[in-house]
Amino acid sequence: MSEFAVPPPVQPVVPVSDGRDFPVRRIFCIGRNYADHVAEMGGDLKTTPPTFFTKPSDAVFSGGEVPYPLATKDLHFEGELVVALKSGGQMLPLEKAADAIFGFAAGCDLTRRDLQAIAKQQRGPWDVAKAFDSSAGVGVITTAKQWQVTEQKKLCLFCNGEEKQNAFLSQMIWSVPEIIANLSRLFALKAGDLIFTGTPAGVGAVMAGDTISVEVDGLLPLKFQIAGK
Ligand code: MN
Repeated sequence: MSEFAVPPPVQPVVPVSDGRDFPVRRIFCIGRNYADHVAEMGGDLKTTPPTFFTKPSDAVFSGGEVPYPLATKDLHFEGELVVALKSGGQMLPLEKAADAIFGFAAGCDLTRRDLQAIAKQQRGPWDVAKAFDSSAGVGVITTAKQWQVTEQKKLCLFCNGEEKQNAFLSQMIWSVPEIIANLSRLFALKAGDLIFTGTPAGVGAVMAGDTISVEVDGLLPLKFQIAGK
């Protein structure tokens, strides 16, 4: 075996509620998946198929203190349900898509909204707006054996204890199996993949020193604080 030319990167992980670690491979995200958020961003509901973007696996964090990122004056929170995969494949039929799910977590898709606005204006890629360091908050994962999406379950985001987002998971435009099936038409999905399923209305700015809590009924909350600039 040849030796590494530089030290190999550390495997990013997210904790599982049973004490194990979930190794993160890729992070996929869907844009515009709640009608009320599409409306607040001035988008069009009829954009099909869904919009996808990605974040690097080492952008993941699971709580604690998160740095205020470089190059922005308008960091936004987006509370989201995150799906963790235990298997994958390409061209998954809709009825098989849920079989790939390992578990679920509360998450936060941190976004440099000012850079996203420029990217949209220039019809450029979203990487600098979405795929920066510590941009993917993912709380402790609960397995799909213990938790499932149901009509009544809600997602809420609190900033400094004040409720900013509150929606039923049933308000998603694309369901979790539909998201997985659609993604598998574009990428070979694998164990270790995480999928951010979109944010409802109420996104807003988060400042240095603010505390965020993303709470999904029945899942452990994702709690973190933005450090100073
Ligand atoms: Mn998002």
